[in-house]
Amino acid sequence: MNIDTEGLESFIPTEKIEELLQSEQNPSESQIREIIAKSLEKNRLAPEETAALLNVSDPELKQLIREGAHELKKTIYGNRIVLFAPLYVGNECVNDCVYCGFRSSNKECIRATLSHEQLVQETQALESKGHKRLIMVYGEHPKYSPDFIAQTVQTVYDTKYGKGEIRRVNINAAPLDIEGYRIVKSVGIGTYQIFQETYHQETYKTLHPRGPKSNFLWRLYGLDRAMKAGIDDLGIGALMGLYNWKFEVMGLLYHTIHLEETFGVGPHTISFPRLEPAIGTKFTENPPHKVPDEDFKQLIAIIRLSVPYTGMILTAREEAELRNEAIRYGISQIDAGSSIGVGDYSAKDEESRKKSQFVLGDTRSLDDVIYELAQEGYIPSFCTSCYRAGRTGEHFMEFAIPGFVKRFCTPNALLTFAEYLYDYASERTRQIGFELIDRELKQIEDENMKQAVKNKLEQMEKGVRDLYF
Ligand code: SAM
Ligand code: SF4
Repeated sequence: MNIDTEGLESFIPTEKIEELLQSEQNPSESQIREIIAKSLEKNRLAPEETAALLNVSDPELKQLIREGAHELKKTIYGNRIVLFAPLYVGNECVNDCVYCGFRSSNKECIRATLSHEQLVQETQALESKGHKRLIMVYGEHPKYSPDFIAQTVQTVYDTKYGKGEIRRVNINAAPLDIEGYRIVKSVGIGTYQIFQETYHQETYKTLHPRGPKSNFLWRLYGLDRAMKAGIDDLGIGALMGLYNWKFEVMGLLYHTIHLEETFGVGPHTISFPRLEPAIGTKFTENPPHKVPDEDFKQLIAIIRLSVPYTGMILTAREEAELRNEAIRYGISQIDAGSSIGVGDYSAKDEESRKKSQFVLGDTRSLDDVIYELAQEGYIPSFCTSCYRAGRTGEHFMEFAIPGFVKRFCTPNALLTFAEYLYDYASERTRQIGFELIDRELKQIEDENMKQAVKNKLEQMEKGVRDLYF
């Protein structure tokens, strides 16, 4: 791969962001209400507006922002939560990101790459729990070429276990060149995620001292190349704790605007993981810009309002309690029952900690997470129908097409949830789950749709699987 960034310039206006974070201080209540209203009318916010939200310090105004985000989530997306699991394929890495347990200089990390057989076992272990959607994660290493990534994705799609199968694979891997993305696209991936880590270029330089990742612009333009290769389902993200979180939120917004302006589509998802402790990784013990819980919740609400059309991911890095609350402010996808050590789902051993990238905050099983979601009235969804029916950019469609959620998302969430309940749920989850489905069915206003969902549920009871609209 030829890393060529000649002629490229950063589209992150560092000075302008710093100026906005200084100048939009102490916005008034009416200003904040106006900004929230604009977002609720389904408009992406301008940098000045997001900066104003970020600069709010008054507790009541902060609360107003969270309520606005909750309102947006409720009215546009409803009460579904999409579930997925990460699958770590290999932790070899040529980079030396100072915050990551996989970095090349970390002698405490035991290196591992799944063999074909191990990958099959891992996939089956995930399928046996009921998972349908994965994100496959790779270090950056010559071993993990585009061909390797494509082969491993194909293996996962080909692997079945009982009634289980993986129906959508997303990727979190190093940025590729255009040809590389074409190879990966050819096996039918969902979202390609690349996190910029920090949008602050000076900070980026000090945290990525070696390897291809030390090139800020190659990474910044990584998703542009994916677009050029025909992958339009892209995830952006920033690792919170490396630099001022308010700056990173502005960076995510400018990245969004860049993609919109250049390609006519913004990111499919935004991620904002917080830095977690990692074995052998001193940097994570005392991160320079640690984000406290209260700020983190505010950050989630502000991203929700700033880019109302995008999916928002909150991973099991965070603890259960915080996740349960944060879902209210606009989260659309969470992982559950996750393991992040290479080979951990099928063969957890004493060394697995040393094969993990960092330490997880939420270690509940998939069934426990589903039980708690159902208790709170959320419909856990394993839906992959848009992707398989060729309707790409589902988050955008949910957002932009009136009635889309009622016609597709809610019925498909109910069907995939029922499938889980029949095949994988514990007794208590099955009970609370079918009660929830009954309540939700009653709320479907369109009688034809209600009947169509009931028909499919009856088929499912008789053993038919993979039903969707
Ligand atoms: N190696 C590829 C790369 O760096 O883009 C992809 C996989 S990397 C394992 C996935 C993400 O994990 C990184 O983009 C980074 O944001 C996140 N990460 C790294 N170290 C972390 C830590 N200590 N805590 C939380 N997240 C971390
Ligand atoms: Fe390697 Fe990615 Fe970890 Fe950096 S974040 S050391 S590139 S696995």
